[in-house]
Amino acid sequence: MTRPIYASIDVDALKHNLSQARKLAPDSKVMAVLKANAYGHGLLTCSHALKDADSFGLLDLSDAIALRNEGFKHPICLLEGFFSQDELSLIAENELEAVIHSDWQIDVLENISPELKLNVWLKIDTGMNRLGFTPDQFKSALKRLSTLKCIRNISLMSHLANADQRNDPMTQRQLNEFLSISENLSNLMRSLANSAALLGHPDCHLDWVRPGIMLYGSSPLTDATASSLNLLPVMSLNSEIISIKDCKKDDVVGYGGSWRCPEDMRVGVVACGYGDGYPRSAPSGMPVIVAGKQTQLIGRVSMDMITVDLRGIDAATQASPVELWGRNLPVDAVAEKVGTISYELLCGVTERVVRQESHHG
Ligand SMILES: *Cc1c(COP(=O)(O)O)cnc(C)c1O
Repeated sequence: MTRPIYASIDVDALKHNLSQARKLAPDSKVMAVLKANAYGHGLLTCSHALKDADSFGLLDLSDAIALRNEGFKHPICLLEGFFSQDELSLIAENELEAVIHSDWQIDVLENISPELKLNVWLKIDTGMNRLGFTPDQFKSALKRLSTLKCIRNISLMSHLANADQRNDPMTQRQLNEFLSISENLSNLMRSLANSAALLGHPDCHLDWVRPGIMLYGSSPLTDATASSLNLLPVMSLNSEIISIKDCKKDDVVGYGGSWRCPEDMRVGVVACGYGDGYPRSAPSGMPVIVAGKQTQLIGRVSMDMITVDLRGIDAATQASPVELWGRNLPVDAVAEKVGTISYELLCGVTERVVRQESHHG
């Protein structure tokens, strides 16, 4: 018997969400973003489920090579490019695309063997002030790259800062900046949209969209739920009740005794804690599904356990199933209650939690 916590990964939901992305951006190619172990869902499972994407977006060279070893022939884009010169021969050998965002990278490229052939995305900073060349620096960066023998193809990329807020004027400003920079470069492919822009800003779709979070069934938009966007949750974080306590009125539960029983009640102990990636900041009252019924977390989250309110769930016994988020409890709702976003919860599911493929059809 192993500890009963696992993350169920619904591969049919992944496929559905990809087809939803395609439907919304029918004239664009889709780069499925698989960074951070596919947002915590498992790189290999997700890359196979998303094989109909036009390309994959990743960060780590080792992950890109793992996909090549699996036989994937897709273009694979390294979203932060290379971090040092010694990666370049593997990048070229595996026909990976590198994002070029800084002058130091072009300095490196100017000094490598022209035998290496690379496809690159030139990243433009249209206002986020994170990665990329500013509009002022862009022309000279493009000129330097264009003259290099090692560069086979150049595409253009930028990233949006506020697309999750549908009415934020920054998105339009960034789009305009990106369009004006690339105005006379219609031979170069352009990419701007993350999930939020794919869903909320069709004018940002351009040649390539780059959805991440929506593929995993979470809403990036502040004003829309995943289900209202026809997205299906991919990960369900599941565990079981491993013990039940019959508590008396005024008994306190867990570290610090932060929960006091208002009456005689049953308390369930669940094999899930912050050591699994469940947020320690989750407060008493956080929804949890036990034996198919919604109840609440009570008391503090421990490393390996949480305690739940079993009042009204008479059917709950040892080994009753528990869902922390997923099919029956949107991860977005859990994230909101702890003041974070689904991305952080999903990426934060730790290695000791087994990912288990499932098919819900
Ligand atoms: C992570 C990432 C994305 C995907 O963002 P989502 O909000 O998850 O859709 C797109 N583009 C770049 C450059 C990224 O780093």
